[in-house]
Amino acid sequence: MNIKKQIAPHIVETVDRLQSAGYETYIVGGAVRDSILNRIPKDYDISTSATPNQICKVFGHRDSMIVGKRFRLVHLRHGHEIIEISTFRKEPDTKGLPSGHKHGVPPENMIFRDNVFGTAEEDAWRRDFTVNALFYDPVADKILDYTGLGLDDIKNSIVRAIGDPALRFEEDPVRILRALKLVGQYGFTPDEMTSDAIRMNLTLITHASSSRLSLELEKILKNPYSDRIIKAFRDYGFLRHFLPFIDANWETEACRYAMALLTEKNRRLIEGLYRDSISLAVAALTIPFVEYELGENAPGGLWENFRGIGWEVKDIIVKVLSPRLIIKRVSASALKMLLMQPAFKEGRKIGSLFSHQSYPHGRELMIIQNETNWQIPDILQQWPEQNVRHERKKHGGDRKKHGRRDRRRDRHRNDGPVHDFIDDLTEGMDL
Ligand code: ATP
Ligand code: MG
Repeated sequence: MNIKKQIAPHIVETVDRLQSAGYETYIVGGAVRDSILNRIPKDYDISTSATPNQICKVFGHRDSMIVGKRFRLVHLRHGHEIIEISTFRKEPDTKGLPSGHKHGVPPENMIFRDNVFGTAEEDAWRRDFTVNALFYDPVADKILDYTGLGLDDIKNSIVRAIGDPALRFEEDPVRILRALKLVGQYGFTPDEMTSDAIRMNLTLITHASSSRLSLELEKILKNPYSDRIIKAFRDYGFLRHFLPFIDANWETEACRYAMALLTEKNRRLIEGLYRDSISLAVAALTIPFVEYELGENAPGGLWENFRGIGWEVKDIIVKVLSPRLIIKRVSASALKMLLMQPAFKEGRKIGSLFSHQSYPHGRELMIIQNETNWQIPDILQQWPEQNVRHERKKHGGDRKKHGRRDRRRDRHRNDGPVHDFIDDLTEGMDL
């Protein structure tokens, strides 16, 4: 197993700097799991015996900053990337006071405080699943498997809670969601005790903070396996508690189309054909319901755009994801992409569409719909990539080649703000 080659060199260097300053330091969590599975980690978590202040001393206060209320950790800046470094922690002896808990009487064993420093081994045991509790030292190229089961469980595709699964889910119900993410994302299967505890404790999720769950939704929508994760939620009866509208409509044509769009979006993301975007995922997941309600009562059915339609579309987006909330920037961006689709499908070259900042995402949603359902043969030629045209301009491209229509569009771009058709459709909305 050669996992060192999966680890980015600046991460090895970061670990090395802490180790050279005398602190025991490892890469932990998902990055170790992903590297063993031969996947490129999406980000890295580092854990160390150094306290937050000591970590900042090693890297200097210009590049490192202590963050976090629930537990303090350090954000280390590396270019545009933020590396999270936490101090080894252990399971607290007392569970802390349930201050600010708003969702009825909390389960007796729920953890509210989680900030007691400990050893590397104690830190491994407080983690959620054996496959998430592996520590990797990239300098010595050595894996530590304190639970003794992590490596085998990865090999055998098993999600196994550390300790008593029911208790661990009671301590933190978000662990149920995290278990099912592993099921969906990697095709893992929970061991029998974990599986029973998931099914018996699904309603505990009502005790988790709604802002944390909304954040989890964002992370899922960013994940290239979001479709499989949602399917795993459905299989285990969790979707009813997490995205109740989608669960209630699961067997409908609109929902099947929504899942097919999400799968196609993910295929293109995994193949590197387009970048990841939460708002694109939101748009893919919600557009069939918009089409169904505003179109011809059928997913894929085109709706008429009219002044102020944005309000209706936004209500549907909110309803589909409710009670989870998404940040305004994301819903506004999804809304704009959605409103562009009738023009794309009909080949209506509205003046401001091509130069609109949401054009690239809107075009990607068009491609996803075209691949899944529309099947319009020459749609890509009709709607070229935005940067291809910018590039031509940048290099002083030959104007004669563009033809009259392109020149007219360029003139629009150069003559200051073009009338934005999205503004009409979203009249009165604060986007
Ligand atoms: P991803 O690839 O999605 O980041 P991850 O497993 O790294 O997956 P993180 O949220 O980054 O997820 O958490 C890092 C690690 O912290 C986990 O692998 C796990 O060991 C531990 N962890 C995270 N959340 C919990 C939790 N609720 N209870 C116990 N341990 C947790
Ligand atoms: Mg992680």
